[in-house]
Amino acid sequence: MLFAALMNEFDFIRRLREQLSTRKTSTRVVAAIGDDAAVFRQSSDRDLVISTDLLVEGIDFHREATPPRLLGHKALAVSLSDIAAMGARPLWSLVSIGLPQSAWDSDFKDEFFTGYFTLADRFGVTLTGGDISESTQIVIDSIVVGEVSAGRAVMRSTAQPGDQIFVTGNLGGAAAGLKLIELGARVSADGSGQEADRRRDADPSDDHAIQSLLLRQLAPEPRVGWGIVLGEEHLATSMIDISDGLSSDLHHLCNESNVGAAIDAASLPLDENVVQLCGRRALDPLALALHGGEDFELLFTVSPENVSRLPKRVDAVSCSRIGELTDKPYAVLIQEKNRSWNLQPQGFTHFTRRVP
Ligand code: ADP
Ligand code: MG
Repeated sequence: MLFAALMNEFDFIRRLREQLSTRKTSTRVVAAIGDDAAVFRQSSDRDLVISTDLLVEGIDFHREATPPRLLGHKALAVSLSDIAAMGARPLWSLVSIGLPQSAWDSDFKDEFFTGYFTLADRFGVTLTGGDISESTQIVIDSIVVGEVSAGRAVMRSTAQPGDQIFVTGNLGGAAAGLKLIELGARVSADGSGQEADRRRDADPSDDHAIQSLLLRQLAPEPRVGWGIVLGEEHLATSMIDISDGLSSDLHHLCNESNVGAAIDAASLPLDENVVQLCGRRALDPLALALHGGEDFELLFTVSPENVSRLPKRVDAVSCSRIGELTDKPYAVLIQEKNRSWNLQPQGFTHFTRRVP
């Protein structure tokens, strides 16, 4: 019983994988539990990639701080991000929603699907089904199906020592946005973040930074274009999306590939809005970049000979080299100025706090 009480989501997933390893599995399953999405052989030249993500009110989002339109965007974005992390192209989706009567009676469902469809249209994704139920709080299960050339899906488990580590975009903004929400900040009325709510004493540039950070948290941009390029051009040797936080997701990647990593703190792409607000609102950009979750950037590795083939930008988003993989399994070191220390996984984990 005590073990069960102390078990977190990753311990449980490990146990599920062990149970699966003793069962008979279809030969058409290319990758099952343990990666960002499952991969199935569809034909001799195509693989299907499928991911599901759950958003629960009060755990994954605060209802009073989340405009339904942005929730619809985020519900699709988080699963698109997992498909991107496999190097695949998203094509179809399903979404199931559980709603309390109060949400059902409001404009919630129309706003939710407006946000959902706007993002789906941008990436040519077709909603193909789902389910609706009444529930005590809002629960959303978002599924996305994508395609990739057979054998080209980019796993977490295929990195090699010496590979260079890269991350798209910048880090720490979504976690800062969550902190701001917890401090009472709210996205501007139209949910666009364009018009900041002005307080008399506020610096306008701070208002802009706050709105941008709130949107990083509430309306993340999945790196779909980068995912497709890295997969189809055979550039990434491994990949994961940053949903739990760089420290945790880098550990997931290293553990799956049986390698270690050395990260250079100075090369981490810090979110400039976090840097701008830092000090005034007790936000530490480096800590947020290392451990903050939900940036939904792609963390990927490239063999040294392929680094020069990497595009500078995809969809106007750049990438940064942040370190190198080592042959010391599970050891993730970070170098900051003259000191170096073990980077512990301190990102988000469900069920870590229930000790009786
Ligand atoms: P991600 O953050 O990329 O969405 P997770 O950390 O949620 O991935 O999950 C890690 C792995 O565990 C994934 O391969 C996922 O499919 C699998 N997994 C998570 N929950 C379950 C579950 N209830 N049953 C089976 N597999 C699960
Ligand atoms: Mg993922």
